[in-house]
Amino acid sequence: MRDRIFLSSPHMSDEGYEMLYIKKAFDTNWIAPLGENVNEFEKELAIKVGSKSAAALSSGTGAIHLALRAAGVGEGDIVFCPTLTFSATVNPIIYQNAIPVFIDSNYETWNICPKALEEAFKKFPEVKAVIVVHLYGLSADMDKIVELCKRYNVVLIEDAAESLGTFYKGKHTGTFGNYGVFSFNGNKIITTSGGGMLVSDNEERIAKARFWATQSRDPAKHYQHSELGFNYRMSNVVAGIGRGQLKVLDLRVEKKRHIFEFYKKELGGLDGVEFMPSNGWNEPNYWLSSMTLSGKVRPIDIMDALESENIESRPIWKPMHMQPFFQRYDFIGTDVSRKLFDNGVCLPSDTKMTDGDLDSVVEIIKGLWLK
Ligand SMILES: *Cc1c(COP(=O)(O)O)cnc(C)c1O
Repeated sequence: MRDRIFLSSPHMSDEGYEMLYIKKAFDTNWIAPLGENVNEFEKELAIKVGSKSAAALSSGTGAIHLALRAAGVGEGDIVFCPTLTFSATVNPIIYQNAIPVFIDSNYETWNICPKALEEAFKKFPEVKAVIVVHLYGLSADMDKIVELCKRYNVVLIEDAAESLGTFYKGKHTGTFGNYGVFSFNGNKIITTSGGGMLVSDNEERIAKARFWATQSRDPAKHYQHSELGFNYRMSNVVAGIGRGQLKVLDLRVEKKRHIFEFYKKELGGLDGVEFMPSNGWNEPNYWLSSMTLSGKVRPIDIMDALESENIESRPIWKPMHMQPFFQRYDFIGTDVSRKLFDNGVCLPSDTKMTDGDLDSVVEIIKGLWLK
C-alpha cells in the first residue's frame, strides 16, 4: 500500500527556516513568555497581508473570540455569519452569549450571498456584527459585503483562517473588515502546529486584544484585574515555526494552484463535474481543490474509491443550520449551501504531493466514469 496521501498536512520548509528560529529561542532560553519570535511574527504577518497591526494568539478560534469582544458583541447580540463554514466560525459567538443568524451561500463565490445578507439586515436591523468567511481560499464578494456593512454601520470581521495568500482585487483577504483572523492549525496552508493571528488597522484594539489574551493583567506590581481575561497568547517557540513558514507561503500557494489546475484540466471535462468558482476578482490560495457533481458519480463514490487506495478526501463543510447543535438558530436563504454540501467533494490538496501522486488521484477518479 502506498504512503497515505493527505487532504492537507504540515509541510515545513526545505531550508529548515523554522528550526533556525526555534533554535534561537532555545539558545537564549527564551521559549517563554512571548519574546522576539512572537513580536517579529506579528510584524512580518502584518506586512505580508498589509495590515497595521497583529496579535499572535493560540488559535484562530481564540482570534475570532477576541475580535467579537473587540467589536463589543455581548449577551443577546445578533451576529450574522455564513452557514457554510467550519464550526469554529460560530462557536465564539456562543462563547459571548450572542446569537448567530446563518446566511446562505451563492454559487458565484460559495461564500456569503450578498442578497441573503441584505435580506438579513432588513429582518434584523439591530445586528451587532457580521462575520464573513473566505472558504477554501476563495474570497467572498467583498465590495458588496463591505458596502452593506457600511450602510448599516455594522462591524465586519473576516474569518480568513483558510485564506492566507488569497487576494480580492489585489487586496489581501482579512484586511477589508474591522478585524481579520488567520489560523495556523495543522491542515492550513501554513502551520505552526496550532495558532492564530488577529489583524486590524486599529492598533489600540489590537493592544487591547493582547491584554485580554494575557489574563487582562492591569499595569500594577501586584496582580490586579479590572476585566475578564483569557490565556490566548502564542508561545515564542510556536511563533518561530510561523516565521519560518511565512517565508514559504508564496511557494505553497504556487503549488496549491498547480494542484487545482491539474485537477481542473484532467477532471473538468467529466460529465457533471464543476470546479469551485474562480472569478476575475478572486486570486485564491487554492487551499483545498473542491468540486461539485451533478451526474451519476456521487461524492461518496469518489471518497470511497480514494480511501481504498489510502488517499484522503472529504465532503464540503456541512452547513451550520443543519447541525444538531445550531439548527435552532435563524437561517436566511434557500438551499445553495445544502446543495454544495450534498454534491461537493474536497480533493487531496497536500503540497507534498508529486505529479505522480496527482496522476494516481486523477486515474482513480476517472475510472469511476468508465464503470
Ligand atoms: C480552521 C478554521 C478556524 C479555526 O482555526 P483554529 O486555529 O483551528 O482555531 C476557523 N474558521 C475556519 C473557516 C477554519 O477553517
